[in-house]
Amino acid sequence: MRAIDCPCGHHFEAETDAELFGLCREHVDRDHPEMERSDEQIRERIAADAYAAEAVA
Ligand SMILES: [Zn+2]
Repeated sequence: MRAIDCPCGHHFEAETDAELFGLCREHVDRDHPEMERSDEQIRERIAADAYAAEAVA
């Protein structure tokens, strides 16, 4: 599992960085439209900040 935390407190987990990107893209568009993040900026953010998370049984 891959995980990332948004500075607003939202926590996201996904199987792959690609899925994580999809979750973050949706979240930013819905909750942080004022950030005007490009796809590239979100990918960079995931590359820099995403970490391995253990799946919770
Ligand atoms: Zn957020």
